[in-house]
This record gives sequence, C-alpha cells and structure tokens, in this order.
Amino acid sequence: MNLEDRILGIDLGTTYSVPAIIQDGVPTLVPVKGQHLLASVVGISPSGEVLVGAPARNQWVVAPERTIRSIKRKMGKGETVTMAGKTYTPQEISAFILKEIKEGVEAELGHPVRRAVITVPAYFNEVQRQATLEAGEIAGLTVERIINEPTASALAYGYGLKSNQDLRMLVYDLGGGTFDVSIIELSNGVVDVLATAGDNYLGGDDFDERLAEQVANDFAKEHGADLRANHQAWARLLRAAEEAKIELSSAPYAMISLEYIAKDKKDRPLHIHREVARDEFVELIDDLLTRTITSVDKALADTNLKPTDIDRVLLVGGSTRIPAVWDMVSARMEQEPHIEIDPDAAVALGASVQAGIIAGEKIDTILVDVTPLSLGIEVADFGFTGRLQSDRFAPLIRRNTTVPVRKSQVFSTLYPGQEAIQIKVYQGESPIASQNILLGDFMVEDLKPNRPDGRSDVTVNFQLDVNAILDVAVTERKSGKRVSERLKADRQRLSPDEIAQSQARLAAAYEGGGTADLEIMDPGVTVLLDRAQMALDRPDLDGLLAAEIAGTIADIRRAAAEEDNEQVEEHCDHLIDLLLEVEE
Ligand code: ADP
Ligand code: MG
Repeated sequence: MNLEDRILGIDLGTTYSVPAIIQDGVPTLVPVKGQHLLASVVGISPSGEVLVGAPARNQWVVAPERTIRSIKRKMGKGETVTMAGKTYTPQEISAFILKEIKEGVEAELGHPVRRAVITVPAYFNEVQRQATLEAGEIAGLTVERIINEPTASALAYGYGLKSNQDLRMLVYDLGGGTFDVSIIELSNGVVDVLATAGDNYLGGDDFDERLAEQVANDFAKEHGADLRANHQAWARLLRAAEEAKIELSSAPYAMISLEYIAKDKKDRPLHIHREVARDEFVELIDDLLTRTITSVDKALADTNLKPTDIDRVLLVGGSTRIPAVWDMVSARMEQEPHIEIDPDAAVALGASVQAGIIAGEKIDTILVDVTPLSLGIEVADFGFTGRLQSDRFAPLIRRNTTVPVRKSQVFSTLYPGQEAIQIKVYQGESPIASQNILLGDFMVEDLKPNRPDGRSDVTVNFQLDVNAILDVAVTERKSGKRVSERLKADRQRLSPDEIAQSQARLAAAYEGGGTADLEIMDPGVTVLLDRAQMALDRPDLDGLLAAEIAGTIADIRRAAAEEDNEQVEEHCDHLIDLLLEVEE
C-alpha cells in the first residue's frame, strides 16, 4: 500500500485527543510533538500564534479569554465561541486540534496523511456527527468514517474482528469532562448500540474541582483569602489538584505544593503545602462516582439486562484509573472489568483498527503484557463482629493489569504499641492469603506509632516490571523509614496436577465461607489445618489427594462453624489419615 493511503484513527476527546495508526499490523499510538495525549485546548498567544495542546493549556491559566477548552460539548449546537476577540465555530476550534494532529503525525511518520477515522460518543446525533466530519475537512483530512467510541473500545480489545463472535458488552467510559456508559452487542460482525446513558458534565475535571474546593476552603479558614476570586490562583490550584488526583491512583498520599499562591493583608506571600490522602479524595468524589453507577443501572434497565447478561465490561477513559472506580463497577457488574488496554488509549487504538480495516491492512490484535494473577499481602483485621480475622488476602495489583505498574496502599498495625509486622507477599485469587502462592516474606521492625491510639501506619508499595520482577517497599509513616525486598512474580505454567490442586483450594475457599470461623476452633484443630495447608503447598502432591484434603478441610470448617464437635472430630481423623498418606 502507498504510505500516503494509510488511514489515521483519531480519538477527538473533550479533554484529550489521541491519534493512532496500524504499524506493521499492530495498532499503535502516534505521538504528536513527543506526546501521546494532546490536550484538547486551543489558544491564541499574545503575539498572535496559534497554540494547541499543552501550551494552550498553560495559557489558560493566565489568559482564559484567549483560550478554549472542552469544545466538544458545543459541537453541532449552533453556538460560537470567542477567542482573543474573534468568533469561531466549534468545527473551527476542533479543526485546530485535528490540524495539529495531522501535522504532528506527518512529522512523526515522515509522510503525508490525508485520511482519517474519527470517533464520537454513541449518543451524538446526526448534526453533531456532521459537525465532526466538517472539522476534519477544515483540517484538510478526508474523513472516511465517524465511529462510536464504545465500538472503538471493543475493537481495541479485538472484539468484533471475528465475524462469528456474539458478545454483549458494557463500556464504562469516564473521561475528563464526560461520562458515557454504553451497552453494545456484537453479532454476525455487526455492532449494535443497545443503550447509552451518562452525564455530559461529569468527569475528571469535576474531581479536580472537588479537591481544589476542599483545599481552597481550608486555605480560606486559615488565611481568610479566597483563592477562587483570583483566576490565576484558582487555575494553578486546579492543575495541582489534577496532578495530586493522578498520583492518588497509584499512591495512598499525594502532596499539593504551591508557592506564592496568594498574599496576606500585609502583602506577605502565602504558600500551600498540603497532603491529601486517597481516602479523603475518594470521600470527596463519592457521590459523583455513585452517580455513574446510577447511569449503569439505567442502561441495564433500558435494555432489560442483568449484570450477568453482560459478557464483558470494559473500562475506558483516563478517570477509570482511579481504584475506587474499579471497585464500584466490579461490585455492581458482578464481574471483573477489563483494563488490559490503557484506558486513555483504547478509543484511539480502536479507531486505528477500524481505519486499518477500511484501508485493507492485515491487523494483529494488540499485544499487551498483563499480570496473570493478582499480587498482594496477607492482612488481619477485626471484622464487623470485633473478632480477629486473620489470613486475609489484600490484593494491591489486580490480575490482568498492564505492566509495568506501581500501586501502593496504607495498612495499620493491629494493636497499640505493636512494633513489628511480617509482610507476606502472595500471588493468586483466593480471598484466603495462605491459599495463594507465597512469593516471599520479610519483617519490618522498630515501628514508631503515628496514630493517637498508639498504632502505626505503613505504606506498602508494589512495583511490577515487564520481567515480572516485583519490588515491595514498606515505608513507615512516622519516620519515613523504608524496608524493601525484590521478589520474582513468575508466571510459571501450572501442570494439570497443580491446576487440580488450585481448583480444590478454590472450592475449599468457597465452601469454608472465609476465615471468620477459624477463631472458634480448638487450637489442636488449627494446628492440624496448618499442617494440611503445608501439605497442599507441596509441589509434588498428587492432584486427587489434594482435592480430597481440600474437601476435608472444608468439611472441618463447616462443622466447626456449626459447632458440631462430633463431626469436627470425625473429619479431623480422616484428615490425619490423608496427611499420613502424604507424609509417607
Ligand atoms: P476525554 O475522553 O474526556 O478527552 P480522557 O479519557 O483522556 O478524556 O481522560 C482524561 C481525564 O482522565 C482527565 O481528567 C485526567 O485528569 C484523568 N486521568 C488521567 N490519568 C489519570 C489517573 N492516573 N488517575 C485519575 N485520573 C486520571
Ligand atoms: Mg474519551
């Protein structure tokens, strides 16, 4: 194919726009001036120069009257905007963005690009689609097709490439300024949008604003100055809030530092140095996240579908990187959402797949490196009942997360004055830690309390690279002291025997109903169960024997929960027999 006939896929987003193209059969993002995400912001500098992307975004801080953001919301609405004293249509503003992309991509690929596929929200009407097409033409692009964003996301995952696939999907797209949920159906190679719901004014920008509001309120209380009154101060605070928000997706704390943000009554400079905890942030946006679930419910109701009728849930849009989003969606949909593809790249990559199909290119599905099993640590807590529940698994990195990845979370010691903790790192999906694969363990000692009740907080940080090397670091909150360990999170292949063992363990986990009942057991029984667990962990254990042992463990747990001592004893006797067989 003639290089100039290649077709570019473009995600023309409300806050960020992203181009992608098929390179050697593989959907690939193309950087524009070195950046994969181009801020959808346009401005005219004081010297009359057109600014697009990050420079325009920076200018918005100092000169909002010369700068336009979120133009996508105005597409096809018959309104115009004023930028540096001149009037423009939304198509024209969008065309500035598309032209920047076209030229940036041409510079990167080294040949002219004329044709494009552009994505739009599924709910866009014909006028809005037409306006998008016109924007492309103004920018000098032949728009081969306008496709729906959820359809593009599905294509990015390779769904819909085979015509014999029948799948129902829910695409949850939480971007910067908008939230869309779509239910789409693939059948016989045709994609149908069954329902869309969402909120045109809900997204990451609102989260930034909530956080900035909180900081501004605290600042007003302390210094009596309102940061919202000064556009520049407010814009700087919003930027800092966004950075903190992004940091909080992988870390439990983030710092907002702004020097010279205001002046006091005596004209002395005032600064902000404030730490934000993830929990505090999640609290601030909780009602907004709940609203997205209301939209999910609406889309399901509109199609008369239950969560279990949905074959795949896809999370797309940069804001779905917030861990609380994953939690809420998986709880509501009763399944693990797919996050293998970068949420801010999925739409663009899917657009490039569609573009490649039109251009007649051979397309391989996107290769992504994901971690096949969840990684986490063992924890204990005093559940609802106040009874100690130990041996629980707290995953930090979920399975199917793209690598490399970094995640951290805060944990606290159980008792006041507790000075040491043992960090046991496991890999697996069982809610019972010891039923997963132990990757390693180490001690953290001499802990100093930081809480009023005498307990200590530590931040546990997991960093997983493409070679499955896992770096675990534990940082003490009080002193910042850090202990770290390097482990290998091998993705070894399991033998059929090992798979049978794991299945048995999983079955036991479900039947046992968690760990809550363990404490009421006789210590002798607990020791026996520990021994059985060790036997189950032996790599050479025969699959059938493993299943039998796991089943017996479950029987003991159940009998113990029912406080049926006779049954407990009977099953224990059987377990002893089985263990003798193993230990022979
Ligand atoms: P749109 O489709 O609206 O143009 P995107 O899908 O690119 O937007 O999402 C942009 C939003 O995602 C922004 O609000 C940005 O702050 C947010 N975002 C990006 N990365 C993260 C992250 N790691 N954690 C939380 N929010 C993020
Ligand atoms: Mg988007």
